[in-house]
Amino acid sequence: MRTRVEPVTPASLREAGALIRAGELVGMPTETVYGLGANALDARAVLRVFEAKGRPADNPLIVHVADRDAILPLVREIPLAAERLMDAFWPGPMTLVLPKADCIPDAVSAGLSTVGIRLPGSEAARALIRAAGRPIAAPSGNRSGRPSPTTAVHMLEDMDGRIPLILDAGPCAVGVESSVIDATGPVPVILRPGGVTPEMVARVAGDVRVDPHVMRPLSEGETARSPGMKYRHYAPKAKTVVYRGLGAPEAIRRRYDEAETAGERPVILGLNDRGYGARAFISLGGADRPQDAAARLFSALREADARGATLALCEAVDEKGIGLAVMNRMGRAAGFDIVDV
Ligand code: AMP
Ligand code: MG
Repeated sequence: MRTRVEPVTPASLREAGALIRAGELVGMPTETVYGLGANALDARAVLRVFEAKGRPADNPLIVHVADRDAILPLVREIPLAAERLMDAFWPGPMTLVLPKADCIPDAVSAGLSTVGIRLPGSEAARALIRAAGRPIAAPSGNRSGRPSPTTAVHMLEDMDGRIPLILDAGPCAVGVESSVIDATGPVPVILRPGGVTPEMVARVAGDVRVDPHVMRPLSEGETARSPGMKYRHYAPKAKTVVYRGLGAPEAIRRRYDEAETAGERPVILGLNDRGYGARAFISLGGADRPQDAAARLFSALREADARGATLALCEAVDEKGIGLAVMNRMGRAAGFDIVDV
C-alpha cells in the first residue's frame, strides 16, 4: 500500500471520510499531535489501529467528536465537574475519562469501563470527523514507543505503507498530546498532563489532583490508573538523560565533552543562550517560552535520531503550566533518567 499525504481540501476530506466509514485508517491532524484515526464504533477498524502502531492491546484509544452533543450516546453519565471542564476547555487539548456506553467496542477502551473523549480544537480534525459522520478513535500516529508525530512527514516516517492517507494541516500548534483527566469523580485527576494545565483545571473545578506517576515510573506491582503510563514511550534511539536545576547547562556541557572524548556522538536538546557554544545543539526555544518547548520536543527527539546521535542530553524546563507536560514526555523519553544538579 502506498501512503498519500494530502492537504486538507473538500475533496481530501470527502475521501478521508469515506475511508473511515469503510473501516480504513486515516492520518488525522489535530492541535496536539497527528493521530491515527478509525471509526470508533467499528471494532475491526479499531483493531487495525493497534496493528498499524504495534500498540499493546491494553492501552486504550481516545474517541474524538466534532460537537458536544455527539458524546451523549457514547457515555453513561456526565458528572457536573466534567460538564464544567467541557464548558471551559472544549474544543481543545483535553480528554475526559467518563463511564462508557455499550456502543463503544471493548477494543477502544482496552476492556475498561470508561472511555476517554475529546472535542479537538483543530478545525481540520473536526472537519474530518464530520466528513466521516462517525466519532473517530485515534491514538498518536507514531509506531508504538516512538516520539509522537507533530508533522505529516513525521507521521509518514512511521506509517508509510501501513495506511492509505494522511491529511496534512501543517505542524501541530500545541505539540504534546492532550491532557487526560479522570472526570468520573468529584475531583478531577490529571492522568497525563497536556495543554490544559493543572492550574487551569483547578480554577474551573475548584480542586485538582495530579497522578503521582506523571513524574515518576511505576514500580513493580503497581497498577497504572492510565494504562499508557506503563509503557516506554517517546524514546529516541539515543540514550537519553535529563538534567534538571540551575546547574543543568554546566553539567550538560561537561557530560557532552566527556562523551565526545570517549568517541560518542552526543547532542544537546536545550534552551537558547545557555553557552552550549559549538556543540551539537537542537533548540527547545527560550527559557521564558515553555509552549515553544512543547511544540518542539517531539521533533527534537526525532532530529536527534536523524543526526545519528548516541547520547541525547536534555535540559529540563520549569514544571509550571504546560512545562509539566513537557517534563512528563521528556522524563519518559529518558526512562526517567533525571539528574538533579
Ligand atoms: P495516545 O492516544 O497515544 O495519546 O494515548 C492515549 C492515552 O490516553 C493512553 O495511553 C491512556 O493512558 C489514556 N487513556 C485513554 N483512555 C483512557 C481511560 N479510559 N482511562 C484512563 N486512561 C485512558
Ligand atoms: Mg501515543
